[in-house]
Order: sequence, then structure tokens, then C-alpha cells
Amino acid sequence: MIKMVLGNPKKTMNIIQKHNFSFQKRYGQNFLIDSNILEKIIGAAEIKKDDFVIEIGPGIGTLTQYLCNYAKEVLAIEIDRELIPILEETLSQYSNCTIWNKDILKVDLQREVEEKNKGSQVKVVANLPYYITTPIIMELLESNIPLESITIMVQKEVAERMQVGPGSKEYGALSLAVQYYAKPQIITYVSPFCFMPRPKVGSAVIHLKKYSKPPIKVEDEKLMFQLIKASFNQRRKTLANGLKNGQGIKYSKEEIEKAILALGLPLTIRGENLALEQFAQLTNLLIQGQYNCF
Ligand code: SAM
Repeated sequence: MIKMVLGNPKKTMNIIQKHNFSFQKRYGQNFLIDSNILEKIIGAAEIKKDDFVIEIGPGIGTLTQYLCNYAKEVLAIEIDRELIPILEETLSQYSNCTIWNKDILKVDLQREVEEKNKGSQVKVVANLPYYITTPIIMELLESNIPLESITIMVQKEVAERMQVGPGSKEYGALSLAVQYYAKPQIITYVSPFCFMPRPKVGSAVIHLKKYSKPPIKVEDEKLMFQLIKASFNQRRKTLANGLKNGQGIKYSKEEIEKAILALGLPLTIRGENLALEQFAQLTNLLIQGQYNCF
């Protein structure tokens, strides 16, 4: 039997008042109060009965209850210790849920997943605290956790940044980093009215399906991301000018220009016009020194 308790304004308010809980702005606490959105998140994450799910920031347990109903096991990691007694109450009916009072950025998730799920794939599902969205996503994608997918609520603009390609003003280092590791898909936009308290920004649910291996071949991932960061740090400069003093980039302006020409691109091009594959090719050309033929 599915036992849904929370997920609407009245029940959320009741439990908050009962525990005399005060929202902490510094933890990005905006709790979901709309069951349609909760169902869309579960649907997008394609939670199945044999899934191990990690939830970041369960709050009062609204989304957690849905996850417990659909998954085999849920690990819910919450930083605010004032929420722990609430979670113990709202999740008391579920034997497949573990609640941890920890900071997600300080947990060795890889070790925990190995231990708890014997190295099998996990899904991450969350209504993220917006103040640390990017570090959480990057930590998850860059880690060696056997990750199947990430389904998260984030600020609308951040979701769009993850999904766009070259030529858009939202396109940046985050777009390229996410698209190197995963296939992003915005599932739905979410109004501030779906949260308590209401955030000042619009939100979106995005699903990131992790690739088993990256979609492009690059000889040095670290160098490629240094090139990407340097070209977006100085967005308005040409690619060659942006890269010549970039952190960790040891190539001269002349070598960089030759590599850009070898790629068939004009020297006036900016980093924001390059697709992920072109950044990979540029990296490979620099490493192989193939621009020397010019
Ligand atoms: N999942 C709940 C919901 O949808 O109603 C709450 C989502 S709220 C946007 C974000 C949650 O993340 C809060 O409960 C907050 O306390 C928690 N949080 C913030 N920073 C965290 C961190 N570093 N580690 C773990 N949880 C964190």
C-alpha cells in the first residue's frame, strides 16, 4: 500500500509547527508542497523496485517518502540536525530508509556506495539546496561512484546552462562539463508556488543520464577542462587570447593559434562558439603538436 503523508501545504505546515522548526535560509531550505511535481521527479528518475537511491537534503522527508515507496533502499543525507527528529517521524513507517545527519560535500560517497550497495549502480534524486548546486553536481559526475543517473530540482537558469550548446549566452563551462559526463534533459519548469517558503527564483527538474563512457575522445581530460575554464573565464576575448594566459596552460599563443587554424577555425573565434568535440580536438592537437605542420 502507498502511504503518502506530506506533499501539500497543510501537512507540511502541521509538521513544521509541531516540531517548532524554523527554516534556515543558509541551507537553501525550500520544501516541496506539490504532489504533481513530486510524481514528475519520481517518473523522470525511473525509480524501480531494485534501485538504491541517494537523496541529498531530504528536508522533512516529502520526496523521501515517495522514494521509499518506489525504491529498494534510500540513503537520505541531511545537514540540518534540527530536521533529524522530523525525518525520524515522517519516515518511521519505512524500513528501507537510512537517514544521515551529514554534509553531502564531506561524505565519502564512493566508499559508502561500495559498502552499502556492493558497487552496483545508484541513482541520485534531490531537490537541491541552490547555494551549492554546482559543487554537488561536479562532485557526483567527477567521482568514481557507479552512478546511473541524477534527477534534480535546480534553479531554472542552472538547468538551462546544463542543457544548452554553443552560440547561446547560457553556454559555459558547466554545460561542457555536464555534457562530457551525462546526457541532460529538462523535464519540467517549476513555479515558486510549489515550495514552502517560496524561492525568489524559478526552478526546473533536470535528468542527467550518466554515460558509461564519454561521448568524445580526449587524450588529457584535465587539460581539456583547463582550456574550457580559461576560455569562459574571459568570454569576450578571442579563444587564442583567452587561452594564452590560462591557468595550467603551458602552450604559447603561437602554438595555440596554429592548433586553432589546424582545426579549421578562424583566429577571431571565441570559446563560446566551440562544441565539446572541438575542445577535445583542440586538446589532442596541442598534445600531439600536430599544429607544427603549419
Ligand atoms: N527534499 C526536501 C523537499 O524537497 O522538500 C528539501 C529540499 S531543500 C531545497 C534542500 C535541503 O538540503 C534542505 O533540507 C537543507 O537543509 C539540505 N541541505 C543543505 N545543504 C546541505 C548539505 N551540504 N548537505 C546535505 N543537505 C543539505
